[in-house]
Amino acid sequence: MSKKLLYIWLKTQGHCHFCGDPVIYEKRGWKKGNLQGAWEVDHVIQKDKGGKDSSDNYLPACTICNRYRWHRTGSEMREILLYGIIAREQVKRSTPLGKQLYEIKYKRIEINKKRRSGR
Ligand SMILES: [Zn+2]
Repeated sequence: MSKKLLYIWLKTQGHCHFCGDPVIYEKRGWKKGNLQGAWEVDHVIQKDKGGKDSSDNYLPACTICNRYRWHRTGSEMREILLYGIIAREQVKRSTPLGKQLYEIKYKRIEINKKRRSGR
């Protein structure tokens, strides 16, 4: 067990700093397949924006959130979250826009799968 990783993991008592879901200490690192509980070390201030490679700049993030974040800033993520809430309501109410969004979502998932598998 790495002291540095444990220190980072304990900063949030083992929870993703984006969504708050629990992450399992032993499931750290790049994973394929079931990502439930998997986590990565997130640079709070990204390296290309001057963030340091030090424990003070790291927080645990579940793998799914961290991959959605990519290079986006906090305010961009909050905007995306708000659009997500609006879009989800449209999907739940099965409005014409909601139906379109539903189709777009599944097309996007397929594109992401292909991109990640290198096809
Ligand atoms: Zn998360």
